[in-house]
Amino acid sequence: MSVAAGIINVLDAKLGQLAPCKLIALELTVGKLSGIEEQSLRFALETLLVGQGHSDVHLRFRQSPAVFKCTACDWQGQLETFTLLCPDCNSSELDIINGQDVILERIEVE
Ligand SMILES: [Zn+2]
Repeated sequence: MSVAAGIINVLDAKLGQLAPCKLIALELTVGKLSGIEEQSLRFALETLLVGQGHSDVHLRFRQSPAVFKCTACDWQGQLETFTLLCPDCNSSELDIINGQDVILERIEVE
């Protein structure tokens, strides 16, 4: 399933819990490591939304940073460069703890 279709599924589930209403805006957080390009996601979502009868929906994107955690020394933070080495202990045993996902943060309806 594409990322856009997954978001639409989440959206449908949430809208199903509400009284019938007009969808105004969606706010999404795109992880820096998600591999998702904002422009292509925007296009895919707009196409799916219009297909479901939601026109003129504002799509707002925020980027969430890549955050890593070192399994050796518990350092946690963002890395500016993609060396993927812990800045504290130089270990390469880093887990990604944020930045891989695309999240539907907010739905605005009227
Ligand atoms: Zn470390």
